[in-house]
Amino acid sequence: MSKPYISVVIPVYNEEKNLEELYRRLTQSLDATERSYEIILVNDGSRDQSSAALKTLFERRPKQIRIIEFNGNFGQHMAIMAGFERVRGEIVITLDADLQNPPEEIPKLIVAMEAGHDVVNTYREGRNDHWWRLAVSAMHNKLRAWMMPKLKMKDEGCMLRAYSRRIVDLMASTGETTTFIPALALNYAINPTEVGVAHEERFAGTSNYTFYGLIRYNFDLITGFSLFPLQVFTFIGISVSFISFIFVLFLSIRRIIIGPEAEGIFTLFAILFFLMGIVLLGLGIVGEYVGRIYQEVRKRPRFVIRDILED
Ligand code: UDP
Ligand code: MG
Repeated sequence: MSKPYISVVIPVYNEEKNLEELYRRLTQSLDATERSYEIILVNDGSRDQSSAALKTLFERRPKQIRIIEFNGNFGQHMAIMAGFERVRGEIVITLDADLQNPPEEIPKLIVAMEAGHDVVNTYREGRNDHWWRLAVSAMHNKLRAWMMPKLKMKDEGCMLRAYSRRIVDLMASTGETTTFIPALALNYAINPTEVGVAHEERFAGTSNYTFYGLIRYNFDLITGFSLFPLQVFTFIGISVSFISFIFVLFLSIRRIIIGPEAEGIFTLFAILFFLMGIVLLGLGIVGEYVGRIYQEVRKRPRFVIRDILED
């Protein structure tokens, strides 16, 4: 069997109502490029009828469509990783199943890849999301740019991206369980670029991420690629020790010259509670790292495949 030139990898979680339209628009866009391709759809343990819908898509084009069925929900990035481990193409494109990333933009990415880039990142133009998602995203993009200046990305939220096979093989070989694929790719990229792509509302269904889910997801990005939060606490520790030292010095001198002071108990409480808050926050951040280390060292498989449908 000849190898396809393009591999498209799509994670699917409860997207039964989107798959038919995704198939129609995606194959139309890919057929128009006149390049050979395969589409790998990874079912991340959907609890709706996605599995049956995927099977009918496979039966329609068994030579071009491959389905990986997970044995449970392992998360969007693990679903993409499973696809990465099995791609056959030279150019690998990732895409969401809910049609928020219009498949019609794929040719733009292919042009950039063929111009010699090994990673094509994207930023969303005219985003269609809830205002709170936009706010969280803007804040997070700023914070990330500040904490991880090496990750040069305008927008890390859009999953419509293209990678060369070399980068994809490197990513698949890391074996990380908590990761963030666009950031991981930039770690290995030699000649990355960024293009703007359109962004649409979800075709059907609702986002799989709650506010809490998004926070967890962002922690994966931060802890996976930076020690900055831990270093912040080292600096806070150093500053607080220094200030307290000066304060102790001041109080001792005051005691000798003016005498002992008894007032100010509540000020003291306020300062104590504030410091206690910082200590607890620090403990939580250390916990975020320790938890992830624990996940990695337990060495459970990062995903379990139940079934593969391919030619
Ligand atoms: N997804 C997944 N596993 C999950 C959550 C999401 O494979 O546990 C897929 C989902 O089917 C979609 C993509 O990841 O293709 C992005 O998810 P979603 O649209 O819910 O996120 P949002 O666009 O709101 O960030
Ligand atoms: Mg979406």
